[in-house]
Amino acid sequence: MISSATLRTNPALLKLDLYCKGARLDDSCFIEGDGGRKIMRTRAGLGSGLEVILPGGLWTNVPVSEPFAAASAYDICRRDGRYVLRHDKQDVAAVQLSPRPDWYEANTSTGKPMTRIGTLQGTYLGIYQAKVCEYWTAKPQKVNCKFCSVGLNLGVDDADEKSVNEVMEVVRRARDESGITYVDFNTGHYDGDTYLDILEPYLVRIKKELGLLVGFQTPPHRDLKRYDALREMGLNRVSFCFEIFDREIFKDICPGKHAEYSLDYYLEAVRYCAQLGKKGPAGEPWVTNGEIIAGLEPPASTIKAIDWITSVGAVPTVCVFRPLVGTDMADASPPRTEDMVPVFRRLYEACMEKGLPIGIAPNIHVSLVMLPDECGRLSPRRFPLQTLKLKAMSAVFRRRFARRLRTPARVSAGSSRAAPR
Ligand code: SF4
Repeated sequence: MISSATLRTNPALLKLDLYCKGARLDDSCFIEGDGGRKIMRTRAGLGSGLEVILPGGLWTNVPVSEPFAAASAYDICRRDGRYVLRHDKQDVAAVQLSPRPDWYEANTSTGKPMTRIGTLQGTYLGIYQAKVCEYWTAKPQKVNCKFCSVGLNLGVDDADEKSVNEVMEVVRRARDESGITYVDFNTGHYDGDTYLDILEPYLVRIKKELGLLVGFQTPPHRDLKRYDALREMGLNRVSFCFEIFDREIFKDICPGKHAEYSLDYYLEAVRYCAQLGKKGPAGEPWVTNGEIIAGLEPPASTIKAIDWITSVGAVPTVCVFRPLVGTDMADASPPRTEDMVPVFRRLYEACMEKGLPIGIAPNIHVSLVMLPDECGRLSPRRFPLQTLKLKAMSAVFRRRFARRLRTPARVSAGSSRAAPR
């Protein structure tokens, strides 16, 4: 049992504990009226919670909609116009609502609510490409990943079609008004490996016209050379979600991924893409992520996955399993914080041991996962040389990025009103 005193002094532990336990929203809360973000079901199929900022500037998405959150010892209440997180009725932290930007109320020029095109996840813009993952529509029976809610959500919070022009409108507003530096695209599986063909026009146009950091998460394309080309275009991140390292559990929970690609092919794609860093344009960073969900397999297996991903030069993205309402795993329990601490501690230590570039991109706060650099507070180990190196890399990157954004921003501010899109 983690004490309230410990939670007060360690925001990383608090962020992790909230993922595992969720929180109840007290009747005094007035989230949207106070400028917070509406609780949307669609968060790349994983999140469904309240977006808040914890002490230490840790952005998070707190589960509030699932039954396990209703039984949580945490609650969030509004007191004197401020929001307070309590644990067993004792104040633990003042929290800030993640600000809802004005463009959340706006429509595209084609009349679609902008939030049906993309939404902020922490401080970056996430866009789930409209076409539903075909594991959800497979015949004779669907073969979707059992934790996933994407097939439940599409058409509820996401638009059915998103043209390049509509996406560009939303990205511009998010850049100008929310100061985003990174846009992330996410697709499910489409027969014929068409996901990269579908995404490419969006990725290229954002990169060329706005100079933002751009990344994408899709299944592993059968022609790995496609990633060389995307890297050469200056894209910045590719992510492969294989979710589970234990082969039998992977097969059971991700039947579509197992039948279509196999765990080995996911791992091969991670390994292949992690080597592409040197191939792209100078000044364009490149990160390959292997994404896994902690809580779907024993912690020791997740730790093995972290060690494998970092051994090939990729950075693990580790989500905490959330049993979302309506999914095949809705009745499962979320993991215990005590089991998750060693996992996230290892995430930080493995990245630092391998000298991976964590925490250096400007203004990227992620609400749906614990970033590796955020997990430093879960480890007693310090890496002074690597920490210094990361600080220096971060300073150079921020300067270079700010310079780059100034030029295209001026061009596009003018052209965004006049140019045909
Ligand atoms: S691949 Fe799995 S996790 Fe991704 S959208 Fe499809 S069913 Fe969901």
